[in-house]
Amino acid sequence: MQETGSYTTDKLPKYRLDSFSVNQLYDSHVHWLNTGDLALGLNLNTLRNEDQLKAIELKEEYFRGEWLYGFGWDENKFDLDFELHRATLDRVFPNFPVIFSRADGHSSWLNSLALQRLGMIDFLLLDKGELNPSGILREREHMIGILNLPPLTHSQIVDRLLVAQEIFLSQGFTHIRDMASDQRLWNAARELENQGKLRMHVELNFTCEDRVDFERALLEFKQVQTAKTPHLKPRGIKLYFDGSLGSGTALLGRGPGQGVEGLQLWSHEDLVYVLNKTWAIGAEISIHALGDEAVDRVVRLCRQVSARGLSGILNLEHVQVLRNETIQLMKPLHIRCHLQPCHWLSDRQWLAQRLKDKIVEAFPWERLRLAQVPICFGSDSPIEKADLFQNLEAIALSKDEGIPALSVDPLKFHQYPYQDGCRTISEFASGKLTQIHWG
Ligand SMILES: [Zn+2]
Repeated sequence: MQETGSYTTDKLPKYRLDSFSVNQLYDSHVHWLNTGDLALGLNLNTLRNEDQLKAIELKEEYFRGEWLYGFGWDENKFDLDFELHRATLDRVFPNFPVIFSRADGHSSWLNSLALQRLGMIDFLLLDKGELNPSGILREREHMIGILNLPPLTHSQIVDRLLVAQEIFLSQGFTHIRDMASDQRLWNAARELENQGKLRMHVELNFTCEDRVDFERALLEFKQVQTAKTPHLKPRGIKLYFDGSLGSGTALLGRGPGQGVEGLQLWSHEDLVYVLNKTWAIGAEISIHALGDEAVDRVVRLCRQVSARGLSGILNLEHVQVLRNETIQLMKPLHIRCHLQPCHWLSDRQWLAQRLKDKIVEAFPWERLRLAQVPICFGSDSPIEKADLFQNLEAIALSKDEGIPALSVDPLKFHQYPYQDGCRTISEFASGKLTQIHWG
């Protein structure tokens, strides 16, 4: 690395002007396949009203079988009269099932035909007591909807991985950590490696949805665990312990004695089971824990398992709200926290209002650093764009809005932290990538 040692957050705007370089530039939390899928598919990121919905040109690649699939809507961007309801989709798309995933990937918006196909209209009526189900599914129900889509073919997967590779490399990222791997992704990635088309260094984490699905993910992982290739490093298992702030499903404490809000997606018993099985084969566990209560519960459970003599690597994903008492509990664990400063840029408009006095517990890069808990930075692509400068900007700006300032060079947390990566240097000037050197 050159010229980076002396930077602090006060000098951050200089990154836009100066030249600098980063060794082994790392995005520590991405969804590789989804990044390519969104680039080729229907992106709803700028959707604001029904006219725009009507104006969507329906391309063949937007469909999975007969299902129209889109990604990226955010109701915070909608015009006042644009209703987030299945009736809106029914008016525009009455003839085929529609499923649109929210920008945070934790909710989806469906038309009536899609709800019927999933057998969810009655389900919603019964379980929610709603006479007029909205067509919004969250977390597990949302995943049922997504997993019901006809799967991508092998060649579609290969195409998407290659498209995503171009996206990451165009931003200088030569090392990525994938959070949504499975057997099919591995097969496609392996094929690219064999053909000499894989240039990025990729760590793979196999996602599971619940305890039953865990057995499948573990089996798939074990089949490739020792099959490391020059660019592919299978690491372990990934699961979602809670949801997101944007979907209202992050598990947050309301304060001492005030209870909690949000969703816990795994029982303690099931999580302990998964920790034991995963650590027993020497694999890493990566847990999506976004709210302070989620992080606290996960850390306490990991301590219990470790105290019984079995320990392993714990990666905590997002850690967007974190209590100081939890940081103290982290210290004896083999822990690494993966943060995405760019989420702050997207959340800032409602963050203070949502978190109130908990705002000082949000985006805890400086508090984790001071406690010497290892951290890495990433983008959560395609939830946010894989863009180094977005993260640098978030760190620079957030210190004026209640987030404790990072007092060291943030590029340090964008470098691949292990010894087994390929040697690369990404060079930037005037806020843009100029060159990647391959060693
Ligand atoms: Zn993610």
